[in-house]
Amino acid sequence: MSRIEACPACASPALEPVWRVPSVPVHSCLMVDSEAEARAFPRGELDLVFCPACGFLFNAAFDPTVQHYSPAYEETQVFSPRFLRFLAELCEDQAAAYELRHRLVVEIGCGKGDFLVALAERTGCRGIGIDPGFRPERVASPAASHLTFVRDLYGPTWRRLAPDYLVCRHTLEHIGPVSAFLRTVRETVGERPETVVMFELPDLRRILIERAFWDLYYEHASYFTAGSLARLFRRERFSVHALRRCYDEQYLVLEARPAPGPTAPSLPLEDDLAETRALIAAFRSGIAAKREGFEERLAAWRAEGRRVAIWGSGSKAVSFLAVLGLGAEIAAVVDVNPHKRGRWLAGTGHRIVGPDDLPEVRPDVVLVMNPIYLEEIGRDLAARGLAPELVPMR
Ligand SMILES: [Zn+2]
Repeated sequence: MSRIEACPACASPALEPVWRVPSVPVHSCLMVDSEAEARAFPRGELDLVFCPACGFLFNAAFDPTVQHYSPAYEETQVFSPRFLRFLAELCEDQAAAYELRHRLVVEIGCGKGDFLVALAERTGCRGIGIDPGFRPERVASPAASHLTFVRDLYGPTWRRLAPDYLVCRHTLEHIGPVSAFLRTVRETVGERPETVVMFELPDLRRILIERAFWDLYYEHASYFTAGSLARLFRRERFSVHALRRCYDEQYLVLEARPAPGPTAPSLPLEDDLAETRALIAAFRSGIAAKREGFEERLAAWRAEGRRVAIWGSGSKAVSFLAVLGLGAEIAAVVDVNPHKRGRWLAGTGHRIVGPDDLPEVRPDVVLVMNPIYLEEIGRDLAARGLAPELVPMR
């Protein structure tokens, strides 16, 4: 696989190196069944480069052929009450904005179907969900009788679906050739001006501000700010009418309709190119210190004999452990998703434990990979008679 030499969003060849990690696991949410398999997990290179012309950041060493999304992929966050509340709010918001009853909703990358099922329950829409990781046994809702799930990767085969509403959450960032992908989405929508598309994905702006290197990993080939996302949609013949940050500024939500040709920027959040360039420069100069700061804290905890656990076994944990090369320094990796308990973390081979296993581990420090869950994690620990120091990742 050769290096990507032009911006996948705007085709500009003038790219700037930002950050490189020579060897990281190519997947972070694929569950593995043994420590040996976890340690031998395929690795790839993270070579993040920035396009100053459009504000897009991507992995120039990304090779999609090493990615294998399957039912063994555990991305769902619905075991967190905080996340469930967010999903319900998003559903409510979309139901209020658009009339979806009896309409056809298509969800690209529907995962286990959580959002599509919730939307169908709330609005009475019909729906088609497409995802290679779909698990039919996880759907238990009467609304599912109006839904069809296809265990497949979305691509040109699905361009004739003609939906009234197309949703794609936390999927675009896994795609390398983003403009080609959006062209297929535009074809799927067709010349039906009332069709709405809604995309949700992580916001690069917060990652840059916090120098959150644990939010940069192989599964995510593509990183957008509000502006670079809107610019891509406008270039690919969409008219963007809503753009916002949500979930403590961690995610972006974009809503658009098809247009006959490229469209011009009109929303306040789009004008972020100068800010993004400055944030990239600050990230580049500040990332070494950020990393060293964590190394020093971990060394201090080790010297004090304190047991450190990580809460959250998703991509953030895999990336954090890989970048810092951590192994036995971390006593446990905890996750509330019962389907992850007893499985193994790709790369370092930590065994994933559930909250109920923690009284045995007795951690002194818990690194909270996503600070938005701080409150519920504190409650979960207190309920088990534990009061370790909680350290939110920032
Ligand atoms: Zn570009």
